[in-house]
This record gives sequence, C-alpha cells and structure tokens, in this order.
Amino acid sequence: NYYSKFKRPLIKNVHQLFNRGVGSAVVHQVYTGGANKWEVIQRTLNGSQFYTFSVCNVGEREQDNWLRTTFIQRRPSASRVFVELQFIVRDCNSFDGASLTCKETFNLFTSESDADVGTTFRKGQFKKVATIAPDEITSKNELRINTETKVVENLSRKGFYLAFQDIGACIALLSVRVYYKTCPATVKSLASFPETVAGGENQALREVSGVCVENAISEELPRIYCTVDGEWVVPVGQCQCKPGYEEVEDECQECKAGSFKAEASGDKCTPCPANTQELDSGAVVCPCMDGFYRAPNDPPTGPCSGLPSAPRDLVATTSAGKLLLTWSPPEDTGGRTDITYSIECQRCEGMVCQSCGEKIRYEPAGVGLTDTKVSVSELDAHLNYTFTVEAHSGVTVLTSQAVPPANRPPSTNPPKITAMRVMERSSTSLSLFWDVKPRVHPRPIRYELTYRKKDDNLDVTTYTVLILEKNSVQIKDLVPGTAYLFRVQALSSDGSPGGSSMEEQFETSEHLTQNNTAVIFGVAAGGAAMLFIVIVVLFLRRRNSHTRQGPEDTYFSSSEQLKPLKTYVDPHTYEDPNTAVLKFATEIHPSHITKQKVIGAGEFGEVYRGILKVPGRKEVAVAIKTLKPGYTEKQRQDFLSEASIMGQFSHQNIIRLEGVVTKFKHAMIVTEYMENGALDRYLRDHDGEFASFQLVGMLRGIAAGMKYLSDMSYVHRDLAARNILVNNTLECKVSDFGLSRVLEDDPEGTYTTSGGKIPIRWTAPEAIAYRKFTSASDVWSFGIVMWEVMAFGERPYWDMSNHEVMKAINEAFRLPAPMDCPSAVYQLMLQCWLQDRSKRPRFGDIVSLLDKLLRSPDSLKTIADFDPRISIRLPSTSGSDGSPFRSVSEWLESIKMSQYSENFACAGVVTMDQVLQMKNEDIKNIGVRLPGHLKRIAYSILGLKDQTSTLSVFAV
Ligand code: AMP
Repeated sequence: NYYSKFKRPLIKNVHQLFNRGVGSAVVHQVYTGGANKWEVIQRTLNGSQFYTFSVCNVGEREQDNWLRTTFIQRRPSASRVFVELQFIVRDCNSFDGASLTCKETFNLFTSESDADVGTTFRKGQFKKVATIAPDEITSKNELRINTETKVVENLSRKGFYLAFQDIGACIALLSVRVYYKTCPATVKSLASFPETVAGGENQALREVSGVCVENAISEELPRIYCTVDGEWVVPVGQCQCKPGYEEVEDECQECKAGSFKAEASGDKCTPCPANTQELDSGAVVCPCMDGFYRAPNDPPTGPCSGLPSAPRDLVATTSAGKLLLTWSPPEDTGGRTDITYSIECQRCEGMVCQSCGEKIRYEPAGVGLTDTKVSVSELDAHLNYTFTVEAHSGVTVLTSQAVPPANRPPSTNPPKITAMRVMERSSTSLSLFWDVKPRVHPRPIRYELTYRKKDDNLDVTTYTVLILEKNSVQIKDLVPGTAYLFRVQALSSDGSPGGSSMEEQFETSEHLTQNNTAVIFGVAAGGAAMLFIVIVVLFLRRRNSHTRQGPEDTYFSSSEQLKPLKTYVDPHTYEDPNTAVLKFATEIHPSHITKQKVIGAGEFGEVYRGILKVPGRKEVAVAIKTLKPGYTEKQRQDFLSEASIMGQFSHQNIIRLEGVVTKFKHAMIVTEYMENGALDRYLRDHDGEFASFQLVGMLRGIAAGMKYLSDMSYVHRDLAARNILVNNTLECKVSDFGLSRVLEDDPEGTYTTSGGKIPIRWTAPEAIAYRKFTSASDVWSFGIVMWEVMAFGERPYWDMSNHEVMKAINEAFRLPAPMDCPSAVYQLMLQCWLQDRSKRPRFGDIVSLLDKLLRSPDSLKTIADFDPRISIRLPSTSGSDGSPFRSVSEWLESIKMSQYSENFACAGVVTMDQVLQMKNEDIKNIGVRLPGHLKRIAYSILGLKDQTSTLSVFAV
C-alpha cells in the first residue's frame, strides 16, 4: 500500500539504488548508547494504512536520536546520488510548553564504506549532508507530507549508509528513495553512444566516445557530453554514411539502384548522371556507358561524354603565299566544350607520302587550336599535301583515339563511293584509291571491286572481282597500254551491295616503267574523329614568289587514312652521320631555345625543360637533351643519331622531334615536352589512382606507337615503362631511340654472354640468347610494359636477380597477374610471352584487341585470378636471404610499407602468423587506406601464404 501510494513513476534515466518505506523494516533504528527514541508507528492517511519511522521527543533537551539505512551498494560510475525523502514534521506550537526545546528540522548524514559493517555504528564516521526542514508543517488536525531531494556528491567507495539525526523534533519519515541519473544509450548523428552515468558537480559534463553505426565512418572519433541531469548535449565528430550509402532514420542504407554516392558525406544518393550506366544498389560511382568517357579532369561524379564527330566543311584557300584551312566545328561535340583541333600534314609524291616534318609553319599553331582555321606556310612547290584536321576533346586521349564512337546510332545511309582515282600507274599495275561517304561507320566497310579490259570482246568478257577491306588496292599483272574499266561498290555488313557504285576507266602505261614503290593503305591509327583533305598546291615559282595557283583539286577522302609504307633508315648507313641528321631533323638556332630547369640525366648529358620560340611560331614547351663538354666526335654522332631516328617518325604516340642544334659547339636535341615524365615513375607516384580502363587506354597508346614503329620496320629493343613518357593529358609516347642506348644508356642494360648489354627482364629469350631482336621481341617487351602499367610501376620480377629471371623464363615460368588486373589483359600479356615468337600477337593485333576492350568496359570487369601456382615467385615471400621473415616490421620493410608498422602493432598484429591470417578487410581496418598500399600488402600476404607452391610450373 505504502509503495503504491508514494512511489512515483520512475523517470527513464533514473536508477534506484534504494527505495524503502519504513514498513519494509530495512531502515534500522540505531541505538546510540542512550535511549534511542525512533520507533515504527502505523498510521492511516487518506484511509490507507502505512508505517512511518517516527520520533517525537519535543519536551526533552539535547536529543540525539539516530536512524540509519542498511548498506547501499553503489554502481562504480555513480558518484552522485539523489536522496528523496518524504516526511512529516509537527508544528512545535502544537505542543504546549515545549517551545523551548522543540525543533522542526532534522539532519541527513552519510558515511561511505567498502563493506557492509552490519549493525556497527559510529557517529563520528558520518558526514552531514543537509539539514532537512519541512516546507509545510503539520498541525494537530492536518497531516502535511513534505518531499525533499538532496544530492550526495563525490562518492567513491563501494557503498554508503544514510542516517537521519533527530535533535528534538516530532518527525515521521515516510519513505527514502536513493537514485542516480544516466544519459540513456542513444544514436546521434549516426554514432551510437552507450548508457552513461551522469557526472557529479566535479564533472558536470561527462565526455563520452561513440562508434559510427554500420556503414558510417568519421574522420574524428565521435563524441558527446552527458550532463548532470542525464541529458546528451553537443555531439562532436560527425559520422557520415560511407560512399554508396545514405542516411535513413539513424541508419546508413545502400543507394537505390540507379543512384550513387561517391563520398562519405551527409548528402543523399543522387541519380546517375547523363551517359552513365545504372548499377545495382550501393553504387559509389556510375561508370560511363559504352562509348562515353570522362576526361582526367572531369569529376568522377559528373556526366560522361562522347567523342566529337569530325570537323566539317574543310576548305583550303590560298592568299598572300599562304594556305588557309578553315572548317566548321563538329556536328556532335560529344557534349563537351573543350574542343580543340590539330593539323597533320603529309607530303605526297606520287604514291609515296611522308610526314611534312618540321618545315611547315602553322599559324597560330598546328595543335591545340581552338579556332576553326589555321594558316599554313613554307610549302614547297609542285607537291601534293594532305592535311588532316582532327577534332579532340578532353576525352579523346582516354579513348586512345580512333575508337569510333560506339553507342552512336549507326548511320542509316549505306556508304557511298564518291570518287575513284589512280594513285600510281605502271605498265602492268594500277594503284587505285576511292572515297567513301559518310566517313564514319559503325562497322568497317568492305568493297567489291570489279574490273575488266575495256575493249574485251563483249561475248567473252572476263571480270575479276575482288572483295576488299580498304578503300585502296594495287592491281598487278595487267597488260601494258591497255584501258580497264573499274567498278567499286560498298558492301553492307551482311555482304549485300549497298549505296551507289562508281565506274571509271584507267589505262596502264605503254612502256615498261620501273615500279618500285610499294604502297599500302593502312587503317587509320590516328586520334579522334578526323577529316582530311588533299590539295595540290602549284607554285609557279619557288617560295617567296607570290604568283601561284589555288588548289587545283580538292576532295575529301574516307575515314581511312593513306598510310605509306615508309621504312626506317638506319642513320649508320649514311657515310657521314651529319648528313643523316640534317636530312631527318630541322636545325634550330640556339638563340631560339631557353633552358629552364634540369629534369633528368641522359647518357650524354643533362636533360632540361625549356621553351622553343622560333620567330613567327608560337612558343612551345620542350625537352632539351644536351651533350656534355669533352665529348668525342663518335659520342657526338651517337648522341645525334637519336635525332636522326626520331626525326623519321611522325605519330601521336612517338615522342616528336622539334629539331636539333648541330652547327654550334653545344649540340642539343629538342623534343616535345612531356609534363608527367617517365611512365614507370609516374605510375609509382600515382599508385592505385587509375581505373583499369585508364591503364588500358595508356597501353593502347603505347601499342599504337609500337605498331607504327614495327610498320616502319624499326625494332626498338629497349621498350620499357621507363622509356615511355607521359604528357599532361596522360598520352603515352614511346621514346629513347639512341642507337647506342641498348648498349650503354639504359641502367637496366646488363652484359650478356654474347657480349651485348641487354635489359634482361624486358627482353625476349631469343634476343638474350642469340641477339634475335625483332618486332616480336619488342612484343615480348610490350607484355612486360603491360605488366608494369597494370602493377602501377612495380619492378618486373621484383628482387630476383637477372640470372634467376632468365632461368625461370626458360623453365616456362611467367609473371603472375598484377592485383586487380582484368583477365583479358593478363591473357594478352601471356600471349606476348609465348616462347615461340611467331605465335606472339603482332602490334596490329594488340591495338585491335585493346580497342575492343576499351569499347566494351564490361570486358575489363573479370579480374584475372590470382593463382600463385603460375607465378615465378611472389614479392617478398621471404627475407633477403631466403629465410622467412623474423618480424612484421622486417616484412613491412621488405615491401617498403614500414610506415604502417605502428598500425600493425597497435592492432596487436605482432607475429607473421597473425599477418598470414589477415584478410583485405582487416588490413583496411588497421588503417591502410590507400588502394595501392592495400594492394601491395594484401598481395604480399598472398605470396607469403603460397611460399611452398611458388616453384610449380605454369605451362605456357
Ligand atoms: P633519356 O635520356 O631520354 O632517358 O631522358 C632522361 C630523363 O629525362 C627521362 O627519364 C625523363 O625523366 C626526362 N625526359 C627526357 N625526355 C623528356 C621529355 N620529352 N619530356 C619530359 N621529360 C623528359
């Protein structure tokens, strides 16, 4: 009864330590030596019966009556407790003649103790907490119940007693309730905090640390404060939902399908932007749709854009001795505004075309044009020039050029043959070339060419029909001095004829002429959508004469580019190497060159970054290779031989020679400047920062450059990531063409038993064994470059010695797939490393395959299995002496990850056995966040695990 009457509903955050009515008889009467006057009295209040502890000795002096509770256990963190008393005090005036001695207050005391002392009572051990005075006094007739709460602070021992001292009042104690307050367990700002006991006056705000809810993270430890009143205030260090998750009612939920969130933030998931693929729930990024790309500087969360279509309406006019090319912007900019144009020039004599080289001057420039016009000067008389205008945008480099814009609606018009002409004529052969419109097709076009002798007896006409994949052909074994009729028609994809056909008559020449010019027309490997124009410019007088005729014959060709079979000429075949330099390179006056800063050390001297400012031309950033003083004539020739070689090349993915200084004491080679330097170093510095398709895009560029070199019959011999340079749009270009470089320049070069110096880990076995250097051995090296790129600049074969590498290769071991390497890419590497060089793919095959992979990003999704059985040896499978690692720090040091020693130690990972148990998630959890580092550590652990099986052979 008493309980039901007086017990208040418990407040949520109030924890009772003690709650007793007197009737429960646990408040003890304490005998203090004299007569103790507290007694248990039954009373009736509002019709209910209840018990009180009462004392009422108002007429006697010097009262000192004590009543003490049982031992109250304390929760360790509850240093502050509340004592709530309900009591009645009688009015002294209601006692006749007792007013001198009668009191109307009593005292509350407490005593701390680590143990229950039973009935032992020592007054001296009690400290006074408060004097308890009633708010309302009870008179004779009317009972008034008071409720008073007092705080007992700074409790520190296991428990305590409360005691009530009467000093001569008339009191009835109805109930005593003892409690403390807590801040309840809560989730605030995505962090959960445990129930916390409110602090006392010495710690009014208690700081509490929390943990982020599932799938939320925070940079700072989330914290909050618990007030003395049991309220949470001031949360600090917010948790935010991880990428791919958003906050929904104190939880982090996966982004719905078709939406994404790239970063840990308080933001909601947003719908995938334009031209991206919608993934399943939990997407952190929406990858580009097939045929759409993001430029390196585009935000990874932004829309994707397509390639620009070709520039339109290219027109050439001449004025004041110059040729002016103008065109209109592409119809389709792919959704981008950063369209620029570049001009490529080819000089054709008969069927033979060559790059126009450095002679030609473009105003304002030949590349990076934002205007749709350029003026060209310094053209020679009586020559055919072919100008190609390419539209580029920020995404051009990613598509590695020439990948026709996928996902564009296929052209519905069948291709149309628009012009046919003879490019080369002899007495027995005719080389034909025809144009086709539109230039861009979803699929390669094939052509049907039919020809016959014109005046054949029509009854017995013999037709020859050829199906061709290119818009050109050379027909041999014809009869001299004879007219032939040629008809060409484009075939649609199912092989049926489509579009219009064209018929022309051409004659072979009468006399036997020497026909020694081999011409092939290759598929364009150049960049972006392109358009080109062939112009015959006739200068009546040479140079400075201003009397000239305009373009006689202007026409557009198909998207396929005329590709001459140009063979590389070894400068050593020239008796005087200086002649070779002058033939292939433009002489620059040293006053036009400004050196700015040393950027590297070449074999012959320093390499500088600088500026080339030729009068009348825009200044360009260049790299300047110098020849150190004290050179011999032989060294000078070797130095300049690189320019003689480089000057013969003209390709987007081959480092471009600007010119040379040979006529002054300090010889120099000036090339285009590649902002990001050597590829191996660049990748190491950006470990883990590129997606597979970006890496494959780089490889595609390198392969295109190598295809160009192999088409010219040039064998590089030292293809390695360190010899690839990267510019600021991440274009990769093959460099390092010195004739002596393989012998002397490359720090990787090692003398072999055959005497030559060879970069062993990049070189094909047949080239090491008997110096058989071919494009097929370059393909092997390309496979190693692929591995270097996919492994972000990791050293091939790690710390194995050259001898170990050669032995392993001969035993059919091959490098294992780099971490996260797409399976298709690794398969291509293995093909490049086939022992039988005739079975290795050719660079043309490699370019097509990489193009195919880039066109369908899904093809890069399957990751090569990490199969330790195929590996030669994994990195850091043991200490340098071959014995297992003795400590975690020794192991971390060996993989250059010492910076994480403390993370491992703090997480309690102190033995290599523990390391071997770690999963990727564990590595992340101990604080290794950078993907590249995570990879390196995980990869090494995999290697450690498989130490025993690394010697099994992988059949190639
Ligand atoms: P090399 O003698 O060609 O190996 O050049 C030595 C170093 O100079 C290279 O590793 C590059 O770091 C730097 N270098 C050479 N050519 C260029 C260039 N065209 N642009 C930027 N850096 C270059």
